[in-house]
Amino acid sequence: MLKYHKIYLGNLCNNKCIHCISKNISPKYNLDTVLNSSEKIENILLYGGEPTLRTDILLIIQNLVKSGAKRIKILTNGRVLSDINNLYRLVDAGCFLFEIKLWGSNPIAHDKITRVSGSFHETINGLNNLTSIQDKFVAMRIPICRDNYRDIQDMVILSINFGANRIILSHNDPKLSFKEVLPFVFNSINISLFNRTWILTENFPFCVMKGFEKHMNEIYEGKALLFDTNIKYNEKCSVCIFKTICSGINSEYIRNNGMEFLPVIESKYFDDIRRLYES
Ligand code: SF4
Repeated sequence: MLKYHKIYLGNLCNNKCIHCISKNISPKYNLDTVLNSSEKIENILLYGGEPTLRTDILLIIQNLVKSGAKRIKILTNGRVLSDINNLYRLVDAGCFLFEIKLWGSNPIAHDKITRVSGSFHETINGLNNLTSIQDKFVAMRIPICRDNYRDIQDMVILSINFGANRIILSHNDPKLSFKEVLPFVFNSINISLFNRTWILTENFPFCVMKGFEKHMNEIYEGKALLFDTNIKYNEKCSVCIFKTICSGINSEYIRNNGMEFLPVIESKYFDDIRRLYES
């Protein structure tokens, strides 16, 4: 899978999500550094707040294309795309890859978390508009929290119905235990596979993903996660075969839930996983 250079564009946003983590992110790459880099950077992810609200977003994309970027992806809540002319402008500037955040499968569930009435309808209209664009790639990002984990399967079905090319289930709430959420995650993976849709998880460690390891985004994207978190291992991890490639557990998660998992002593997939991880 292609690795993307992530450029943080600030935290201006039109949603007020309960579990917003944008404000905790420390920028990884600065736009000017990337534009002035002598190295040709081909794959770029624009994220942080809602990038499409920036008045200079088209200029940013055009300049990145000029500096050699071949693939520019935007992480967005999709609301600005509900106006098809905004979408056409982004595509004309050179952006064909979109990662859309979805918090709920219906207006009540979604808007309760975004805390903006009408946000679900705009996101859905944006998705609808995207279906008319040729050669685009649409990934759905479903951030999982206490308020929406029982709705994951319906969000996955909704994403499949919109023809999503990929679905990412990202554990984003340190108060939500893996034990509680995993049955919903595994069901969602099976639904997705049954519908031949690519699905990945994020922020779940190897020790809780037994049998589903190949769906872990970290295997393809590497240890560096999109969002900075205070990552910890505990003494049990020292004997785990995945320790060197595992991203560890968010320390706030451990404070809330304890270290409820056991180290992995053997796995028939280990060599394949390490090979993928190191490639
Ligand atoms: S290193 Fe620790 S957190 Fe990571 S998979 Fe092993 S036991 Fe789990």
